[in-house]
Amino acid sequence: MAKTGVLIEIENTKVKETSLGVMTAAAGQEIYALVLGKDGPAVKDALAEYGAAHVVSIIGDIGASPDLTAQALAGAVKEYQLDALLGTAGATGRDLFARLAVILDEPLVSDCVAVNISDKTAKKSHFSGKTFATLKVDASVFLCTLRPNTIDPSPAPCSCDVLEFAADVTGPGRVRIVETRQAKEGGPDLTEAPVVITGGRAIKAAENYSMLDECARKLGAAVGASRAAVDAGFAPHTMQVGQTGKTVSPKLYIACGVSGAVQHFAGMKTSKVIVAVNEDKDAPIFSKCDYGIVGDIFDVIPALTEKL
Ligand SMILES: Cc1cc2nc3c(=O)[nH]c(=O)nc-3n(C[C@H](O)[C@H](O)[C@H](O)COP(=O)(O)OP(=O)(O)OC[C@H]3O[C@@H](n4cnc5c(N)ncnc54)[C@H](O)[C@@H]3O)c2cc1C
Repeated sequence: MAKTGVLIEIENTKVKETSLGVMTAAAGQEIYALVLGKDGPAVKDALAEYGAAHVVSIIGDIGASPDLTAQALAGAVKEYQLDALLGTAGATGRDLFARLAVILDEPLVSDCVAVNISDKTAKKSHFSGKTFATLKVDASVFLCTLRPNTIDPSPAPCSCDVLEFAADVTGPGRVRIVETRQAKEGGPDLTEAPVVITGGRAIKAAENYSMLDECARKLGAAVGASRAAVDAGFAPHTMQVGQTGKTVSPKLYIACGVSGAVQHFAGMKTSKVIVAVNEDKDAPIFSKCDYGIVGDIFDVIPALTEKL
């Protein structure tokens, strides 16, 4: 059994479901659930339910800079002699794990869709999702981030203790957080959302995204855009899904008026269920989706919202 750390992310006092998925990826190992800050005891039961043997609260003056947070994590890796550390390849994980890899001088495999901790192997999507590669890592500490939502959380109850690790870090870090802004009030983060609804060029105008926003609220979804919609000025680039936008891997992806170009698929191909709405029955997206609705998005989406 490898001593495996999992970086836990907490939102609104609850452990994010994406972190529970990473816990499931580490099942069978001795799991150290690493919580940044004092909330370890508060989330102990939730983490024990998903296999944590130890919940570690990492305390100290670490939140002011991602540099300091990464140093604190490196300290915890050494303190508990972890063989591996896993996290989510979201905004926080991407930033912290890259810094951590430099501090520990270890390789990092990021944005993986599967992992085998005992073999130190991880599976990654390559060439815009056309192939998958299994990478074997030669490392003392196996550092790996997993694409959000690729692994469904599965309970594995475990007896668990709570530890506190006082990080020995001194500021200021090289990066200082000046301000944190929410991209869109209330909605989930696009890269981590369990459901994503995307509007393509067919949306025709920026204000028409309100139709998708309304449907998204019913579904707890994030709203995305194709590059054609972004290039036309209907949506900001932060909403773009695809090769030159964000990679998403939700449980449900609803593409509205998106033709299904390979560059768009590169960013959502690993979604569990893909639904397409397009008025052209020959649109390429229909050959790549699980469910297709031939129809006008301006009829279908309001009807769906009403039904929901
Ligand atoms: C290097 C490179 C990188 C790229 N990166 C990305 C990327 O990151 N993301 C990305 O999305 N694209 C990317 N592209 C662009 C990509 O090739 C496509 O041009 C783009 O995805 C098309 O967007 P779209 O499907 O919204 O528009 P279109 O291809 O114009 O398709 C619109 C679809 O809407 C349907 N439609 C129209 N009106 C309605 C209606 N009322 N109801 C229902 N259906 C309707 C049409 O039948 C059509 O299928 C990239 C291209 C290159 C070369």
